[in-house]
Amino acid sequence: MDDTTALGIFEALRSLEEIDRNIAGITAQLEALSPELFESERRMAELEVRAEAVAKRAERAESRLRKSERATKAGRETLKRLQQRGQEVQNLKQHTAVRAETDAARRNLEAAEDEQLQGMQEVEEAKAELSVLKGQLTEERAAYERLKSETSARRAELESEILVERDRRANRELRLDVDALRLYESVRGGKTRQVLAALTPDGVCGHCYTFIPKQRQAEIRSRSRLHLCEGCGIILLPVE
Ligand SMILES: [Zn+2]
Repeated sequence: MDDTTALGIFEALRSLEEIDRNIAGITAQLEALSPELFESERRMAELEVRAEAVAKRAERAESRLRKSERATKAGRETLKRLQQRGQEVQNLKQHTAVRAETDAARRNLEAAEDEQLQGMQEVEEAKAELSVLKGQLTEERAAYERLKSETSARRAELESEILVERDRRANRELRLDVDALRLYESVRGGKTRQVLAALTPDGVCGHCYTFIPKQRQAEIRSRSRLHLCEGCGIILLPVE
């Protein structure tokens, strides 16, 4: 091949590699969109589980509270009845009996009142915690929806960018020497790896620093032939 063609080939290869790098970069951005959404979904599920547990706790505390409220009410009635009876006692024996019953009723009432107080506190705490969790859940849901619409817009944008790059690539392929293209594709191996490297002024591969024989160096510099590095298999280009 003559010099003009070779010059064209080197440039075309550089441009092909640039396009492939662009495609790889956009693909990586596309792949990075899903983990964020997944992460938000995971946080949402976790908050839902916690909120449900706290709601159950609030429910249980509420029912204990109702029970202790009933016990307190009953205790107060019992005490009132005993106090009335205390005013109607006829003798010391009756007085002592009513007194003992009153003491016991008072202790029961105190216990029920304590429990009621504790129940009120538990209900209050559970409700406060639940309201915080619900707030967080609302925020996370909004963030998820935002992320979802953002990512779908961004996804469409990136996908169209890839289409543009693929179109550019197809164009370059058509104008590139068939053997050069085949060589490029075989070095690339279908993967996104570096395909081209410069031959440095001191005659080594710019990628793996393997020394390139003088004859080959001359051919690369004069752009008369394409050569692969024996060390890493990359296509060597002359320094511009
Ligand atoms: Zn090399």
